[in-house]
Amino acid sequence: MFIYIYVWIVYDNNGMEKKSFSVTVLGSGTSSGIPCLGVKYSDAFLSNPKNHRTRCSIVIHGPEGNLLIDSSPDMRTQLLREKIDEIDRVIITHAHADHMFGMHDLRGLSLKHGGEMEIYTLPVHQQSIRNVFPFAFLEPQPGIWLPRFKLHDIAPELSLCGLRIETMIMKHGKMDVIAIRVGDFAYLTDVKTIPENELKKLYHLDTLIVGAVRYKPHPNHFNIEEALALIKEISPKRVYFTHISDEIDHNTAEKDLPEHVKLAYDGLKLSFSIK
Ligand SMILES: [Zn+2]
Repeated sequence: MFIYIYVWIVYDNNGMEKKSFSVTVLGSGTSSGIPCLGVKYSDAFLSNPKNHRTRCSIVIHGPEGNLLIDSSPDMRTQLLREKIDEIDRVIITHAHADHMFGMHDLRGLSLKHGGEMEIYTLPVHQQSIRNVFPFAFLEPQPGIWLPRFKLHDIAPELSLCGLRIETMIMKHGKMDVIAIRVGDFAYLTDVKTIPENELKKLYHLDTLIVGAVRYKPHPNHFNIEEALALIKEISPKRVYFTHISDEIDHNTAEKDLPEHVKLAYDGLKLSFSIK
């Protein structure tokens, strides 16, 4: 049996202990997943594994557990692919199908927690989760294995999985969407506009993962141009685009981007120390 250890301790020059965390990109694709069903693609496009993008989600591996950000319809296969067999807490950024329809499969992962998964999101998205998964709020019944969710309001600051999580509320069209910052890392998906009071929380980043769905403008998402404008404003050291459509070909797109801006891909792993 293999044991995967994601958290390690490093020491700074004074011998002081510093904790670290890492991030796995489970999915980097837009809502349809890429390739889209019913669309024909060139062999060149399909031959690059990085153009095969499951629905958008990450796991943050903290000192005290794994924090899942969004539960996509591909969650089960994503977690099997990455050999991640424990999820301890979940944040749902917003209640769109591509970010929450994997939640039914949280039931197996919640056994470690007494059969109930603790999930953090905005009240408006909690209502959508209750509407889609009403059976996840029933009293347990003998012989019937249903998912059970315990919903919590998101707060500006949370302590989850041994990490201090800062949350921001941004706009995804008219919908509120949660963005997160952990130390010098931030994750923004499905964002179209950022309120001024939240923008100031995005300075001095080491790494930003940000949604950039396509080249053409989109009513609810940053396109590449808008994401690059944000990057120019806040100057993170390195950036990965996510929630990517099939307009963006991994074979060619990065050559037109600034050197510190790359495309995320399924399975990308990043490591950070907590200062
Ligand atoms: Zn969305």
